[in-house]
Amino acid sequence: MSRVYNFSAGPAALPEAVLKQAQEELLDWHGAGLSVMEMSHRGKEFMSIAEQAEADLRELMSIPDNYKVLFLQGGASSQFAMIPMNLLRGKKGADYINTGSWSKKAIAEAKRFCAVNIAGEAGMSVPAAGDLQLNADAAYVHYTPNETIQGVEFPYIPDTGDVPLIADMSSTILSRPLDVSKFGLIYAGAQKNIGPAGLTVVIIREDLIGRPMDGTPAMFDYKTHADNGSMYNTPPTYGWYLAGLVFAWLKGNGGLAAMAEVNERKAKRLYDAIDNSPFYQNPAEPSCRSWMNVPFTLANADLDADFLAEAKPAGLVTLKGHRSVGGMRASIYNAMPEAGVDALIAFMADFEKRRG
Ligand SMILES: *Cc1c(COP(=O)(O)O)cnc(C)c1O
Repeated sequence: MSRVYNFSAGPAALPEAVLKQAQEELLDWHGAGLSVMEMSHRGKEFMSIAEQAEADLRELMSIPDNYKVLFLQGGASSQFAMIPMNLLRGKKGADYINTGSWSKKAIAEAKRFCAVNIAGEAGMSVPAAGDLQLNADAAYVHYTPNETIQGVEFPYIPDTGDVPLIADMSSTILSRPLDVSKFGLIYAGAQKNIGPAGLTVVIIREDLIGRPMDGTPAMFDYKTHADNGSMYNTPPTYGWYLAGLVFAWLKGNGGLAAMAEVNERKAKRLYDAIDNSPFYQNPAEPSCRSWMNVPFTLANADLDADFLAEAKPAGLVTLKGHRSVGGMRASIYNAMPEAGVDALIAFMADFEKRRG
């Protein structure tokens, strides 16, 4: 059996070396005589796995000491609610920047809890930093640094002064170095660039913990998880372990600076191929093209189905675009090797030659 190049937006490809290591350790983790899946989350074996994963993530992202790292469940979508529940702290409203589908979902959820001020809005682009209408009295500013569906990524970090900046980094976390100290809270569903589905990583500045809305359930209070090392209840142990293997893999491959170089190169090569062809088009404003999610359309949409059908036997799968954008989407997270991007580009050129 040969593995394909999987361009899925999420759950997405994992590094093959990580999967092989998980396979080797599946039945008997480090001589413990059992699988990580079968371990008590409070036992010393799993505690060592959990601690190492957190330490590696802290090292990779240079997370300052005054931030907690939480390993939760519920996906990024639960964070859409947990953020207002915990961070409104008596304020009436929050600022949200709307750049696409995931921004909209976060906004819709926030509206259950507070007034939402749309501080900036753009389609297939991002608002210019100078155009943001930030409200000095906002509880926080929320944005989506990378819109997974539109393939639009902020080329800058909004400056929100003393108002905490909150970022849904589900599809861009770990793709490059980041100054965590600019953020009040960063969150990400794991299934794009961290590990398997079922784990959600939250990085939160400590002073933002501990003032939830009245009536907030314990499971939705960051303090519950922060005070209990993310083990108030049973955490997603296997996902946490696999994320730890991914963090170790990233460290072994030069960390986030090295990832950024490779990711920029992969994205540039693919966008160049699209731009140099009259047959393929990318709908995003060039200055905010995503490194991670590359949507593209064919000059003739009637050929979409053939493109996908022919890509599959070439070992290139999950290229169908999101229904709201159409065409194709190639998600090229950290785990996508450069050879996978090259294989896609070669296939695209061949398809254009034969069918364009
Ligand atoms: C995938 C994704 C989500 C949703 O994540 P879940 O873990 O499925 O809730 C939210 N935001 C962004 C930017 C995403 O890419």
